Amino acid sequence: MWLCLHMVLKVTKILAFQSLSGIYSAREFVWWYNGHPDYSSLKPDLKTSDSAVILGQGNVALDVARILLRPTTELASTDIATHALSALKESSIRKVYLIGRRGPVQAALTAKELREVLGIKNLHIRIKQTDLSVTPADEEEMKTSRARKRIYELLSKAAAAAKTSEADPDQRELHFVFFRQPDQFLESDERKGHVSGVNLQKTILESVGTGKQIAVGTGEFEDLNCSMVLKAIGYKSVPVNGLPFDHKKGVVPNVKGRVVSHTSGDISQTEPGLYVCGWLKRGPVGIIATNLYCAEETVSNKLVDPENRTDVL
Ligand code: NAP
Repeated sequence: MWLCLHMVLKVTKILAFQSLSGIYSAREFVWWYNGHPDYSSLKPDLKTSDSAVILGQGNVALDVARILLRPTTELASTDIATHALSALKESSIRKVYLIGRRGPVQAALTAKELREVLGIKNLHIRIKQTDLSVTPADEEEMKTSRARKRIYELLSKAAAAAKTSEADPDQRELHFVFFRQPDQFLESDERKGHVSGVNLQKTILESVGTGKQIAVGTGEFEDLNCSMVLKAIGYKSVPVNGLPFDHKKGVVPNVKGRVVSHTSGDISQTEPGLYVCGWLKRGPVGIIATNLYCAEETVSNKLVDPENRTDVL
């Protein structure tokens, strides 16, 4: 009974605190430091405390963590927007927490991107040793995916190296926090309307069918203090006016880039002259190279379609 009441109160609080300042989507933050004209005036709160929380453990989460943690002397030689570089020079953020609802075997990272972050100068990596223990189901997942095994090995190696390194007061810290899912944002008592932390629910993994494990809340909660939250839990495309759209998958239904008028995938239902590529074609996954191959496939199909062919003499 207590648990039920507790849950109801928590849900009410989440809804009430949706609009706290200091909470940004990773997209807004990425657009800010990349100089997108609509977001150059974002002014993310980088000065209130030394801690930022990033929700999610995918490559976007890593990208934004890298911007917060990399020395600005190094960022200066990149094409980062000038306003972002100036703000980051003044930043007091020293600790970044990457929150994953599952474990190190399931982190949605790729090795190259993880290595880049682990290689940041003067960065202390923190991972709880207990989070690195693996279950038979984890072993099974790693057996079927070399990429997962590689990520797990990189994280384990980083944790072991951190244990033997000397503590340095100037060091910045990146905490990989596993088996925690966000439950509610907390409001600051001193600064009304501003976020002061995230309440996290501990999770365990449950197997669901072939090799997949999902996070399930345990009913135990803990608070993590911070003055900035970045939500990096993935993307979903929005429909484009006049185009068919598969709301469940968040894609324009297509067969190898040729837009089809409904979601059956029946090639005979192709919309003549309409093609799609990128996340609108496949969903919000894949590294840069994936997008290159994806575009190549769409363009090749466009070139061979009869309505687009011109005879060359
Ligand atoms: P992503 O890879 O789908 O990762 C999303 C993360 O958020 C996962 O850790 C996921 O956990 C978590 N998550 C999702 N829903 C959640 C919820 N309700 N509560 C708590 N956690 C939740 O998404 P992304 O990082 O936005 O990246 C999108 C795509 O772009 C990816 O394919 C990525 O590789 C790619 N990308 C590539 C590069 C590059 O090439 N350098 C850079 C950036 C992004 P679960 O696994 O448990 O769902």
